[in-house]
Amino acid sequence: MKVYKIIEGKDHALKIREEIRNRIGGMAGAAGRPPKLEVIIAGSDPASLYYASLIKKAGAKEGIEAVLNHMKSPDEYKVLEKIENLNRDETVDGILIQLPLPPPLNKEKIINAINPLKDIDGQHPVNLGKLISGQKGIFPATARAVLKIIKLNGIEVSGKRTVVVGRSTAVGLPAAIMLVRENAAVSVCHSKTAPLEEFTSEAEILVVSAGKPKLISENHVKKGACVIDVGTNEVEGEMVGDVDFERIIRKASVSPVRGGVGALTMACILENTFNAYKKNIHGNGTQ
Ligand code: NAP
Repeated sequence: MKVYKIIEGKDHALKIREEIRNRIGGMAGAAGRPPKLEVIIAGSDPASLYYASLIKKAGAKEGIEAVLNHMKSPDEYKVLEKIENLNRDETVDGILIQLPLPPPLNKEKIINAINPLKDIDGQHPVNLGKLISGQKGIFPATARAVLKIIKLNGIEVSGKRTVVVGRSTAVGLPAAIMLVRENAAVSVCHSKTAPLEEFTSEAEILVVSAGKPKLISENHVKKGACVIDVGTNEVEGEMVGDVDFERIIRKASVSPVRGGVGALTMACILENTFNAYKKNIHGNGTQ
């Protein structure tokens, strides 16, 4: 039985990270400091804490200082005060808020408080507005990772019938906008799209970011399509994607849960931080 291509992210991510490491090596001496990313974890969501620890580790490997701010009790005033202090601190290049935020924290209020120049996941309305209007800005790391995995694997985007499942401001919508900019013909599906397979089975490129384990099976997929699985769901201690990889690989090319989009998302977080650092040390990093 024919098995299609695995759409690879890890090796490409390692190359991007190596380049960042080399470039920081050449700049940090003159700047007097390495790039600094402040990660805020409000509450004690285990997945957020774990992911923040991975960012710290990845940053340390590539020469970026990632500081974890674990604010156990979700006090909105304290989170906003923390952000304000980090905005003012010239030695801080980037701020990353781990989502989802626990109640009663107001996501919009907290995201809007970040200096857009330090908004490492591109969630501030200024950066999202720049993405839509085609201006330069900081754009969501996972959406960037989706575009990178497609392009770095040599998948042609222009003119392709493309379906994005998911419309979050962190992944689905920005990925759809980026794909439109690359001249794809994009449809966006969500939880109210029924039947989902009527849309997905037409897609030459299918991006799935729904947060629903194995939502997409072989009958959702067009033969020979390219399927990008963004989903990371913990099921009985195992990491499961939104796509049923084992079944779909016999019908289409697929990105794996491990070594796929996630590896490139981390590379994009580091890249976004490095770019914010470059701007900051050249004197245009304040609000
Ligand atoms: P989210 O904010 O919960 O958004 C999920 C989206 O999927 C929503 O737009 C929702 O529709 C849609 N959806 C939910 N169930 C659906 C269904 N049955 N059919 C069609 N659409 C459905 O999640 P997110 O932040 O975008 O993250 C999605 C997944 O990606 C999660 O598993 C997350 O862990 C993972 N993730 C991975 C990475 C990585 O680097 N690999 C990074 C970030 C996130 P409505 O809008 O109608 O509710």
